[in-house]
Amino acid sequence: MTTIERFAPSPTGYLHLGHAYSALMAWRSSQTTKGKFYLRIEDLDSTRSKEQFTIAIVEDLNRLGINWDPPVIYQSNRHPIYTEQLSKLIRMGLCYPCKCTRKDIQESLEAPNMPLTGQNRKLIYPGTCRNRPFSEMTKGDAIRLNISKVTDYFGGLAYFPNLNFTELGPTNMGVHRVTPDFLQGNFGDIVLARKDIGTSYHLAVVIDDAYMGITNVTRGEDIFDSTYIHRLLIELLELPVPTWTHHQLIRDEAGKRLAKRTPSWTLRTLWDKGLNTEEIIAIAKKQIS
Ligand SMILES: [Zn+2]
Repeated sequence: MTTIERFAPSPTGYLHLGHAYSALMAWRSSQTTKGKFYLRIEDLDSTRSKEQFTIAIVEDLNRLGINWDPPVIYQSNRHPIYTEQLSKLIRMGLCYPCKCTRKDIQESLEAPNMPLTGQNRKLIYPGTCRNRPFSEMTKGDAIRLNISKVTDYFGGLAYFPNLNFTELGPTNMGVHRVTPDFLQGNFGDIVLARKDIGTSYHLAVVIDDAYMGITNVTRGEDIFDSTYIHRLLIELLELPVPTWTHHQLIRDEAGKRLAKRTPSWTLRTLWDKGLNTEEIIAIAKKQIS
């Protein structure tokens, strides 16, 4: 079967070994099936995204021998589309405006009548604004998805067995079921629109992948859990369901995930050391725990 894949970096730093692995995996998979491969620049965060890094991403991918089908998608150009889809969810009565700061949420979770369980420690939003109407929305509010209303929207729990996704990656291979309990316990009422960017990573990714016709999403296994949110949003927005391949993460000698700010693992540094693409891939494979 022909696959349509993508690589979707944020231009907030230079690509490192982990990005190279991810991009090559998606690209090779699309090549094997004579499918398509797209590049998407995730530049929603206008303060951290820099043009110089977008240019560097293109240069680095070229140097890895990766080519892509036009056009390159820039998330910063797509705000009207995110707003339109968000409005749809609002009209469905599934959202509410939230004025809480991070500090508000922290304080409400530490209140004596709310025992701090393992889940709460992850800063799961307690639903303070859940009954706040949009008429009270002020500039600077975030917009959240009301997970219990989602259950009602689907007509109750009986709907959820149909809500699953197929993972092709090595760690969680198989079919996974989305349940309200899992969503509530791990994420709570997720933010669909951040006050600063008017959308969220989750919403934008789901809308873009559908728009680009992506049939398999390849990305690092650190965001495997987000797939539950993405699958839910796909259902609500009636978008096509892809498969997912979450690959293992490249780690440094100390076993820590590579971060963009670790200059020794950027592709630029590795090339400067005289390594070629095949050698870079060999290192990447060796580093996978
Ligand atoms: Zn709130």
